[in-house]
Amino acid sequence: MAETTIIDGRALAGKVKDELVTRVTQLQCEGKKVRLDAVLIGGDQGAHLYAKNQAKACSAVGIEYMLHELPDSATHKDVESIIQGLNSNPSVTAIMVHMPLPAGVDAHTIQMMIAVDKDVEGVNPANIGNIVFGHRSLVPCTALAVMEMIESTGVELRGARAVCVGASTIVGKPVAVLLMQAEATVISTNIHTKKRDELTRSADILVSAAGVPGLIKVDQVKKGAVVIDVGINRVVGDDGKKRTVGDVDFEGVCGIAGYISPVPGGVGPMTVAMLLRNTVQAAE
Ligand code: NAD
Repeated sequence: MAETTIIDGRALAGKVKDELVTRVTQLQCEGKKVRLDAVLIGGDQGAHLYAKNQAKACSAVGIEYMLHELPDSATHKDVESIIQGLNSNPSVTAIMVHMPLPAGVDAHTIQMMIAVDKDVEGVNPANIGNIVFGHRSLVPCTALAVMEMIESTGVELRGARAVCVGASTIVGKPVAVLLMQAEATVISTNIHTKKRDELTRSADILVSAAGVPGLIKVDQVKKGAVVIDVGINRVVGDDGKKRTVGDVDFEGVCGIAGYISPVPGGVGPMTVAMLLRNTVQAAE
């Protein structure tokens, strides 16, 4: 059995946050604002919990945080006018919009409206496009977190074979492009991919972002591979209690993989750290 190193997302996020405290202090000394404004529409519990955690994380590194809450009945025009106000407010250096949006508010149109240099979730098509051009402007936070975690292992990306399971616009696709940028040989898979097991078994780097618990089993992983588990799935355990798991059979894959990121405590905390880092970068 291979010795598997756990990639500790909380520890890596802690290091990032320490660096950010210094950068925020520097900006404040120069009289510059670092402020993240988040827009939350409706009563989605997950989004409210995320906003609460964001507020705490921002305050820990000295970033000002403002939450703009709108009711479920908010119209597309209401959201547009908030974004326009934030775009033109010089005190606001970063903007993000919590998902999901209510019916009648089109996410893509709203994301296109966010000022490119304040778009700290990297959801404006201009920022996504920059990744393809190789400009690391404001990159989607989870994709950035995945790359940081892979890079933390010291494994050579150039020439490595990387397989991404899941190809969403916000996670799977940007991860695949960033890996291409690092000159890995990249295979992007989705729910329709045939013989996916054969592909994952050949991967030096395996990133799973499908949102399917237990999708990646031990016989689908190459010995010594770097395995990054992006999935966040709520399941009921044998004891009847709810818990959060990733896409990867963690227990099984430990002992085969060279490195593995756990869920919880992996990509999740690093994603928050990357949002904070993008926020500081936007202010700089
Ligand atoms: P999505 O539903 O938008 O996309 C899922 C992708 O996975 C699609 O490309 C789909 O074709 C593919 N897929 C689904 N089932 C599959 C299967 N059986 N085999 C192969 N591919 C399959 O999801 P998303 O928004 O990209 O999120 C994916 C997962 O990552 C979810 O569990 C989500 O909660 C999690 N997530 C975590 C973070 C974080 O911070 N850790 C951030 C974003 C998303």
